[in-house]
Amino acid sequence: MSDKVLVVEDEPTLLETLTYNLERQNYQVETASDGQRAVELARQIHPDLIVLDLMLPKLDGFEVCRILRQEMNTPILILTARDDEIDRVIGLELGADDYMSKPFSMREFLARVKAQLRRVRLIREEMDSTDILPREIIKFGNLTLDLTR
Ligand code: CA
Repeated sequence: MSDKVLVVEDEPTLLETLTYNLERQNYQVETASDGQRAVELARQIHPDLIVLDLMLPKLDGFEVCRILRQEMNTPILILTARDDEIDRVIGLELGADDYMSKPFSMREFLARVKAQLRRVRLIREEMDSTDILPREIIKFGNLTLDLTR
């Protein structure tokens, strides 16, 4: 199954370009052009990665990031029009995983998308493999200690 990417961007041309290039890499792409819709869609489709513009109508990217971070640990790649250190710091504090300043090269964008998705896959595989391990449980009177968990 291909990875699902939610792209949130209010500039139609950029949204189209990003979608086109992601689809060419066989990702399943869903799009939103305002922050409110982004939150709704993320809750609905549980994407593997969210590409998030900062300056958005209704809810800005910071708000979207803050809300979603409380609900899911999907990686968030932030896009910003300004190479502003403050934006970067706030974004990372809100739990964004990566950052790109516009304009950026499509190759670099795709490489970063791939890197984030690879990271998610590794974490998932690791979690799956710990589930398979025999559970080490120590019982001591009324106390039960599960070492695996
Ligand atoms: Ca924007």
